[in-house]
Amino acid sequence: MAQDDQFKKLIAHAKEYGYIFQSSEIYDGLSAVYDYGQMGVELKNNIKKYWWDAMVKMNENIVGIDAAIFMHPETWNASGHTSAFNDPLIDNKDSKKRYRADALVEDHIQKYQAKINKDVEKGRKKFGDSFDEKQFLETNPNVIRNKAKIDEIQSRLVKSLEKDDLVELKQIIIDCEIACPVSGSRNWTDVRQFNLMFETQLGSTADGASKIYLRPETAQGIFVNYLNVQKTGRMKLPFGIAQIGKAFRNEIVARQFIFRMREFEQMEMQFFVKPGTEMEWLEHWREVRINWHKAMGLPEEKYRFHKHDKLAHYANAAYDIEFEFPFGFKELEGIHSRTDFDLSQHQKFSGKKIQYYDPESGESFVPYVVETSIGLDRTFLTILSACLKEEELTKENGESDTRVVLQIPPALAPIKLAVLPLIKKDGLPEKAREIIDELKFDFTCQYDEKDSIGRRYRRQDAIGTPYCVTIDHKTLEDNAVTIRDRDTMKQERVQITELSKIVDDKVSMKKLLKKIY
Ligand code: ATP
Repeated sequence: MAQDDQFKKLIAHAKEYGYIFQSSEIYDGLSAVYDYGQMGVELKNNIKKYWWDAMVKMNENIVGIDAAIFMHPETWNASGHTSAFNDPLIDNKDSKKRYRADALVEDHIQKYQAKINKDVEKGRKKFGDSFDEKQFLETNPNVIRNKAKIDEIQSRLVKSLEKDDLVELKQIIIDCEIACPVSGSRNWTDVRQFNLMFETQLGSTADGASKIYLRPETAQGIFVNYLNVQKTGRMKLPFGIAQIGKAFRNEIVARQFIFRMREFEQMEMQFFVKPGTEMEWLEHWREVRINWHKAMGLPEEKYRFHKHDKLAHYANAAYDIEFEFPFGFKELEGIHSRTDFDLSQHQKFSGKKIQYYDPESGESFVPYVVETSIGLDRTFLTILSACLKEEELTKENGESDTRVVLQIPPALAPIKLAVLPLIKKDGLPEKAREIIDELKFDFTCQYDEKDSIGRRYRRQDAIGTPYCVTIDHKTLEDNAVTIRDRDTMKQERVQITELSKIVDDKVSMKKLLKKIY
């Protein structure tokens, strides 16, 4: 299936089964803002719990906080967001469409990369088993030419961004003859900087009100609380502060469903360390975080690390964990060594001493920070995109059939267990309710009596429920039920008293955590 079609199916499926709705849909929606439905909120809560337990519950030197979205406006002067949290934007005068200028250039570079990939494929076909990709890449004239083009444009792009040279950025677009994908024209405005923070007013009267921002990242809520937590929690270095919360960015081009939203959620952990030890900790968190992803059981080849060549002004090393979304490999999580930049800036702007006294060495210093920052919504999208499958089946009578199944990691599935009376009478619904009343304390259960049992199984497959339990007339005599596994579709007769253990074995979060720790 073409990637575009696959992605459209995913979006339609997410809506049809109550995972994600367009915000304010009855008013034709709000661009790049989404609501999570009855299934979506459960999956989201489970992801949050998995992250929180992995970071806070499993590490005695990490504690959590929940800071407010509104912060003192000076925070954003100290962090550099008011002056530097910008994206360069450019408009096409004919289509009136707005683009991120750097993204236009990057897309253009991708075209040269696609040409190289095509040549490699051709070479592979031509030379068969004797094909040496490395040699081909080093010697093929087409590849060398395209590679040189990529290097040249890339280097100009990096330099222009580093120097904030918007004239040069536009010149690259002109020199590369980049056209607007909508109008096809090269009639561009100048490039200008656009600050991504949303502003609002605090206070009710016009003269007494002051401008404040919706936070564009959760990290600053942690930095400004560093002293509070360190002192009240009597924390010793190295230690971490974790937080899950909303962040807001007025993204210029917000496409790709919940990948790039204007209101989204981050799960961040700032780990405070002694200066000089940050590289060891960066390696440590790189390993722990990739293991967290892999423990979920999505295909491992869909993850890769990307090392930043161009570092943000505050960082001395940075990696992204990228995931292969339906539209290619993109950033899912950042793991950054942020030096003492943020704490030092807050020290300077607030005039309060933000230091750590090391009782062993007798020294005081501003700690260094290694952070792990992951988008909750992007994690949600990795799960939907890797777990939604259309399977070919052969029926008992030999006919072929298909089913749509959402193979969400069982520990994260919104509903763990569906309880289905075979028919709506003869005491079967009552028996089903009895089972739910016992199991609902441990697992999210769903009761369903509508339609044939086959259709009910399909409905549960589509929302990703790991187990279905069917109650039939015999259940009333032998207290046994049929349990069906979502992934194997195998059915087994088991005693009601065994259900809790069977389900728990499959859906326990502990199993995931044990793979990491
Ligand atoms: P990108 O380059 O994709 O804009 P970023 O480098 O600006 O992302 P960070 O500031 O490092 O992102 O934020 C940390 C994480 O927050 C990202 O890895 C991503 O998962 C998530 N995130 C950032 N912006 C958005 C957004 N607009 N919508 C959804 N998630 C986001």
